[in-house]
Amino acid sequence: EAKRRGRNIWQPFDHELARDLGDRLLMESLLRRALDSGEFRLVYQPKIDLARSSVIGMEALLRWNSPQLGEVSPSHFIQHAENSGEIVRIGAWVIGEACRALRAWRDAGLGLRHVAVNVSFRQLLGGSVLDAVQSALRECGLPGNALEIEMTERVLIEDAGDTVEMFSALRRMGVSLTIDDFGEGYSSLNYLRRLPIDGLKISHTFMQGIPVNPVDSNICQAIVQIARSLGMKLTAEGVETDAQREFLLQLGAPYAQGYLFSPPLEAARVADFLEAWGDNGNG
Ligand code: C2E
Ligand code: MG
Ligand code: MG
Ligand code: MG
Repeated sequence: EAKRRGRNIWQPFDHELARDLGDRLLMESLLRRALDSGEFRLVYQPKIDLARSSVIGMEALLRWNSPQLGEVSPSHFIQHAENSGEIVRIGAWVIGEACRALRAWRDAGLGLRHVAVNVSFRQLLGGSVLDAVQSALRECGLPGNALEIEMTERVLIEDAGDTVEMFSALRRMGVSLTIDDFGEGYSSLNYLRRLPIDGLKISHTFMQGIPVNPVDSNICQAIVQIARSLGMKLTAEGVETDAQREFLLQLGAPYAQGYLFSPPLEAARVADFLEAWGDNGNG
């Protein structure tokens, strides 16, 4: 009886633990080789100026094509790369690669103003981001304002102490700092007072109910007002319908991204996209 109860209690736990651990170890070991094996690439999603209907820049999004696992979504693997610390090397590569892409587009006559990269909590903690940004900009001969860094609120809540100094250093270089997925995870707005932030991106979770759901609509409106009154640039992400675009335009939200305008594009497709858009990116 004790044995059976013990098995009932422990077996499922052991099983899950083993699977999680196996998952984790497998992911971490595959990720460790992925960068050097060239399994990563970046895709780029346009950011649109709503009022002018022009393309102002591109957000770089990481893609992992693993020979063992196939295409793995960043929302799955980033967390493992953070746990193992591999995110520092991967993140530095992302910053470099995004800058090289922007350099190539500019050399091809596309006037894209900036490229945005996503940076995770663990990456900022390590303090290596500043070095990665500096060397990428230098290598590519780009000014700081060619680069935007997106990070989630977690970075700000779990303030690593020297966050303010690091942000100020990035700011002095001209790099802009944006809060991604704003409103999704945390309710404290205190960090907006303490930290030099340039922009907010409304979480796509609030976009889903626009324009019919009054709660989502009101939250969007409130975030647009917060951004405006603090002098921050606002981007709405996950815009999929024309009704959502209209709603944002009427609120005076300046920028948007989403499948309505374009899915993330392979680097080689960006020039064609801009041409089809009727815009060489200078608009
Ligand atoms: P994010 O930075 O908030 O990026 C937006 C995500 O929404 C992307 O998913 C994008 O493909 C997707 N998306 C774009 N337009 C639409 C739309 O209209 N509707 C819907 N439903 N989704 C849309 P993706 O590429 O799978 O990236 C997921 C997350 O992974 C990103 O969220 C970001 O937090 C993280 N991530 C991506 N690349 C990197 C990276 O290089 N470094 C780090 N640290 N994180 C990254
Ligand atoms: Mg982002
Ligand atoms: Mg986002
Ligand atoms: Mg997101």
